[in-house]
Amino acid sequence: MTTTTEQDEPINILIVEDNSLNLQVLTDFLGGNNYNFLIAQEGNRAISIARRRKPDLILLDINLPGMNGFEICKILKADTETQDIPIIFISALNQIENKVNGFKVGGTDYIVKPFQKEEVIVRVDSQIKLHQLNKQLRRNYLDLAVTNEELSVKSNELHHLNTNLEALVEERTEELSGALRSLQASQSLIEQKNKELQQTIDQLLRTRAGKKATTIVLVVSFSIFLVEEILENIFQNFAQSNFYLLLSFKFLLLLLLKPIELVLESTMIKRSHNNITNKIAYEGGSQHTNR
Ligand code: MN
Repeated sequence: MTTTTEQDEPINILIVEDNSLNLQVLTDFLGGNNYNFLIAQEGNRAISIARRRKPDLILLDINLPGMNGFEICKILKADTETQDIPIIFISALNQIENKVNGFKVGGTDYIVKPFQKEEVIVRVDSQIKLHQLNKQLRRNYLDLAVTNEELSVKSNELHHLNTNLEALVEERTEELSGALRSLQASQSLIEQKNKELQQTIDQLLRTRAGKKATTIVLVVSFSIFLVEEILENIFQNFAQSNFYLLLSFKFLLLLLLKPIELVLESTMIKRSHNNITNKIAYEGGSQHTNR
């Protein structure tokens, strides 16, 4: 806190005094202190100067023509423009009631006539210093209030941003939870479908397709067996009792028919297997599109 600028500016002191001699004494005592004197000899003029010039201090006589000092003080203290100006009453009435009344109406100090130079200087100086400190304090307070207001605005902005952020996070969390639930549902469905598919495959292998493959192999084997028997009988008749011829024929038959039998069987098994695979692929595909 600094009062440098205040000390550089001239300090205005309004002296309200109807007695020219007293006025002269006061300005003499206080002269040479960088004080600028404003003079009023009655109430209306004093109030007008106070409102216009806003002096740093008012020295106010009590006994005046027209309004007295107490009435002037009341008016100045009721006006927001002048209420902060310190007022020192000056009077020859050295009575306790006047002093008390002076403080009651808002005066800050009291000087009794006849004036003592040192007392006047000290009382005026201390009131002016107090007033300047008060002004500085008020300015600092206003600065603080402005800073506080700015901080409050920033704080509100922050709070607003924070609220938005929280809402956004909540929204995202909700979206993620939804996605997770959806994923879990899909997974359950896939597991269920897999189980169903596995059952279908088992059923197919165990029943229809399996039976079909077995049947085909049996039929082919039996057919080949029949062909073998028939051909064997024919050649047995033809070869009569020639053992070697019969043996050669049997060997030839085995050599010719066995591969055919094997190829047939293998083809049938392969076809059945393809049927099963197709069936599974179809079932799997339909499961997939159902999702
Ligand atoms: Mn007077």
